[in-house]
Order: sequence, then structure tokens, then C-alpha cells
Amino acid sequence: MSAASDAAAAAGRYRPPSADRPRTITVLGATGSIGRNTLALVAERPELYRVEALTAQRNAAALAALARTHRARLAVVADPAAYRELAEALAGSGVEAAAGEAALLEAAARPAEWVMAGIVGMAGLAPTLAALERGAVVAIANKEPLVSAGPLVLETARRSGAVLLPVDSEHNAIFQALADNPIAAVERLVLTASGGPFRTWSLERMAAATPEQAVAHPNWSMGAKISVDSATMMNKGLEIIEAQRLFGVADETIEVVVHPQSIVHSLVAFTDGSFLAQLGAPDMRIPIAHALGWPGRLATGAPRLDLVAVGRLDFEPPDPARFPALELARRALRRGGAAPTILNAANEVAVAAFLARRIGFLDIVRTVESVLESLPDAPVGSLEAVTAFDREARRVAHALVEGGPPAGRRKER
Ligand code: NAD
Ligand code: MG
Repeated sequence: MSAASDAAAAAGRYRPPSADRPRTITVLGATGSIGRNTLALVAERPELYRVEALTAQRNAAALAALARTHRARLAVVADPAAYRELAEALAGSGVEAAAGEAALLEAAARPAEWVMAGIVGMAGLAPTLAALERGAVVAIANKEPLVSAGPLVLETARRSGAVLLPVDSEHNAIFQALADNPIAAVERLVLTASGGPFRTWSLERMAAATPEQAVAHPNWSMGAKISVDSATMMNKGLEIIEAQRLFGVADETIEVVVHPQSIVHSLVAFTDGSFLAQLGAPDMRIPIAHALGWPGRLATGAPRLDLVAVGRLDFEPPDPARFPALELARRALRRGGAAPTILNAANEVAVAAFLARRIGFLDIVRTVESVLESLPDAPVGSLEAVTAFDREARRVAHALVEGGPPAGRRKER
């Protein structure tokens, strides 16, 4: 069994949202790229949804505006310093305001049938677990907890009967292409990758890349962290691990192909030689709409694919010399235990250091590799174990980025 086959099996127990029976939803990370796209779809079909809770890190003004528009019952900022601004902005609206870690968990624990996990990074782990523990349908965009704490996330969902719906475009594509085929009929999962903004750049040029260049993704409009991950292709490395978690297949079953147009969002190759793919315009509203409508299909105004305008679809192998993050992530997956936890934590720290201009672009993956090599691993079945390895990897990564690029590489910068 896998999270995906559990979801396929559960589909019969759920009804798509309808005007007679609107679906209650909560959006964690409502002010982000995923959160806003989710709420834009909800705004197209307001009769189908009731918004329970919306959360953000600290942007109180933006959160309050969304909470008013969508008549949410509760709005939560994770940062307590933003509480006063949120409460003032919501005065007289009837929306309850709250702040802090406990309030964030409460937002996830409130009885919404469907929850978008749209926070970025490991900050999303605890609220996602809170939604899974009560058996909700969780549309999961927030890939870092799946990578870092995969067994814990899956076990929590399995125990409560919660359903995990993949939102990451590749995993959503695979989920759709798999339909209710048994995983035993799968020969390979083919993850497509755009190659990011530096797909054709030389290593010399990449060494001097700025945060502005790294976040300027050619096809997708996304938050800063995932945009940098796309530029290093660590995003695709994280997605290999994410696919292993969601679909329960072996690492060698998962292939990565660079597809610069981002039209074929991923494919499943079956044992009979058939390949099934999901195609669409590169717009996250499409996979999000799939999760919002599940187990039915939502009618939306999301952009439509014009194959004639696209004209051609190209595919090429990834270049391991310029994009070593891919192999590093595979190594972490094969090592298992805490290795994916360490990989993810070190990457979060290194990406933040790059965005703050403390390290160069190529130092991101070097830092992750150094941290991965310097820490031992052990099983990470519990939240305590995940948290301990995550914290230790962040400590080591901080020490490396504060001291400049990893030892022995300084001359190259
Ligand atoms: P984003 O930076 O645009 O938004 C992140 C959201 O999380 C914001 O609402 C922010 O307020 C909130 N947040 C950030 N730190 C927080 C914290 N410490 N505590 C509580 N809330 C916090 O990010 P995004 O691009 O929307 O990505 C969200 C997740 O979805 C990421 O895990 C990303 O990998 C995944 N994802 C995004 C896309 C995309 O198109 N943006 C595609 C696939 C997967
Ligand atoms: Mg993706």
C-alpha cells in the first residue's frame, strides 16, 4: 500500500463538494503562492466551499484581507508579534484572530474536511500532522515534511484514515495517471523537470548567480525557497524522495527527465509498455483544482493548454555535473534513516543563506553535502527523532554558512 493507493481506495467514501453540501476547508500558508492560488479557485466557486481557518507567518494585512474576502472563521499568524495588527485589521469582521504556534496547531486541528498544507519548509510539519491526526483530507503541497519526516507523516495518516492528495505538479500528475492501477503494474515513474533558470548556464556563470537570477523561474511563479530549489535542481531531488514516500516505489524506479516547456507534468510507465501522462499549462491552479474537486472534477477558469501554440515538446537528460543536488538527494534516500531529514534541513539553511547573500549559488549544494557527510544517521520514526536530527543538521549548516563556503572551496568563489 502507499499514500496514493490509500487515497484511490478512499475516493468512494468521499463526495465532491456541491452547493447542497459545501466542503469546509482550511488553508495553511494562505498568503503564499500555493495559498493564494487555492483561494483564487475558491473565489471562482464560493458556493462550494466554507472557509474555516487561514494562516500565515506574519503578513497580518494580507491575511486579514483574505480572511474578510473568504469570510473565514479564524485567522492565525504564527508570529505573535503580528497579532495586534491582525486583530485590528479584523475588528468588526466577525473573523476570530489568533497568533503563535499553539494557535497555528489549533487552526489545523479545527474540523475542516479538507486542508491545504501550503506552508513552506519544516514549519509545516506540526500543523500538517495535526490535520492528519484528525483524519482530514490533506492536499499536500508542503513537500519538506514528506521528505524529512516521510515515515511519520504516512504513519499518522494511516492510523487516522486521513487522505493525502499530492499537489506538487509532478506528483499530482502521477496520482492522476496512476488512477486505480495497482502499484505492481508500474514499471517506472518519470518525473519531469523544467531544468530551472540555469538549465543552459555554465558552471562559471552559475558560480556568480544572484538571488534575483535564481528566483526568476522561466515557467512557474512560486515562492522564493522553491524557486531557488528549482535553480539548483534540489527541488527535483526532494521530489524524488517525495515520490518514493507518496507512491511507495523503490528509488531506482523513479527517473528524472528535463522537459523545458513544463507541459508534460510527469508520466507513469506501466509494465505493458503504456505510458500515461498528465498535461496542462504550467499553472499551479490546475493541480490545486484537482485536489479541491477530488474525488470529482472542478470547473475552473485556469489557463488552458494550446498544443499548437506550444508547438514542440523537448526532453533531455539532467546534467549531473552542473546539478549535483539530484544525485545527492538520491544518495540520502538510499541511505535512509535521518539522511533525508539532514538533507532537507541543511538545504533550508543554505537556501536562506544564499537569499541573504551570505554564500554563493554553488555553495548551497556543497553545504548540504558537507552536512550530510558529517552527520551519522539513525531511524527517525518519531517526531522527537526527526526534530533532533533536523536541529542538529541546521546547527552544522549554520556553522558552515556563517564561516563562509565549505572548507577547501574558498578559492573558487
Ligand atoms: P511561499 O513562500 O509563497 O508561501 C509560504 C506560506 O507559508 C506563506 O503563507 C507564509 O506566510 C507561510 N509560512 C512561511 N513560514 C512560516 C512559518 N515559519 N510558520 C507558519 N507559516 C509560515 O511558498 P510557496 O511557493 O507557496 O510554497 C509552499 C509549499 O508548497 C512549499 O513547500 C513548496 O515546496 C510547495 N510547492 C509550491 C509550489 C508553487 O508553485 N509555489 C509548487 C509545488 C510545491
Ligand atoms: Mg514540483
